[in-house]
Amino acid sequence: MEVILADYLGFCYGVKRAITIARENASADGTACTLGPIIHNPQMVERLKREGVGSVDRLDELRHGTVIIRSHGVGPQVYDEAERRGLGIVDATCPHVKKAQISAKLLVEEGYHVVIIGEREHPEVKSIFEWSNGQAEIIETTAEADALKTWAKLGIVCQTTFSGGKFREIVTHLVEKSREIKVLRTICTATDQRQAAAMELAANVDVMLVIGGKNSANTTRLAQLCAKQCKTYHIETADELQPGWFDKIEKIGITAGASTPDWIIKEVYKKCQNR
Ligand code: SF4
Repeated sequence: MEVILADYLGFCYGVKRAITIARENASADGTACTLGPIIHNPQMVERLKREGVGSVDRLDELRHGTVIIRSHGVGPQVYDEAERRGLGIVDATCPHVKKAQISAKLLVEEGYHVVIIGEREHPEVKSIFEWSNGQAEIIETTAEADALKTWAKLGIVCQTTFSGGKFREIVTHLVEKSREIKVLRTICTATDQRQAAAMELAANVDVMLVIGGKNSANTTRLAQLCAKQCKTYHIETADELQPGWFDKIEKIGITAGASTPDWIIKEVYKKCQNR
C-alpha cells in the first residue's frame, strides 16, 4: 500500500508562531496561561501544560501572571481587562488575523457597514466582530447575504480560514447590496494551500486520512472536502486507525489541519506504512 502525504499539511505559520511564543513564556509555577486552548488540538494543549503553559477560559481565573493571547485573537476589551487586572500580556495573535481585526475596525471608522463572512461561533470571528466595535454583521451563507439590507457603503472582511470558493459565492450575492463595496479578502493562504493540496490528493487515492482535532474547524472542513472525492476518515491520533479501513486499498492519502502537530502526523504515517 502506498502512503502519500499532501503537499501542504499540518501547522501553519500562525500556529507555529503562537506555540513558539507560548513556549518562550512558559512558567514553572503555572501562571503563564493562554486564554482558551492555544489551538484546537487536545494533544498539543496537554503537552504545553506539562511544559508550563496552562490554559484558562476566563481572565478572572488568573490572579497574577501572564495571559497569552492565542492565534485566533481577542477583542480590544480583553487587553483592557488584562491590564486592569495587572496581568502581563503576550500577544500571539496571528498577523493575518490581526489584519482582519484592524481591517474591520478601519472600515467602521471610514463609515462602512461591515460584514464579516465566517462562522458566527468561531473565536476568530468573534474577535473580528469585537474589533468592529460590535457593529459588524456576521454572515455565513448566501441566504443570509440575500437577506441583508442595502447600505450606502458596505465593507466586507472574511474569517481567515473560510473556504475561498464559498467566500466568492457569498460576495457575488452581496454586490447588489450597495453602490460602494470594499471587499478585503482576508483569507490566509495556509487554508487555501491545505485545501487545494488535500483535494488534489483525495482525487488520486482510495482513502484519505484527515488528522486533527475533532473541534478544529479547519480540519473538519478538510475532511468534508476530501469526502467529496473518496472515502475519508477524520482522526485525532494514530490509535483511531482501524484495520478494516485498509482492506483492498492501494493508495492512502494523508492530510492534516493547520493545528495538527508534526509528531501526530508522523505517528499516523508510520503506522500506515507498517501495515
Ligand atoms: S490559518 Fe492562517 S490565519 Fe489562521 S493561524 Fe494559521 S496562518 Fe494564521
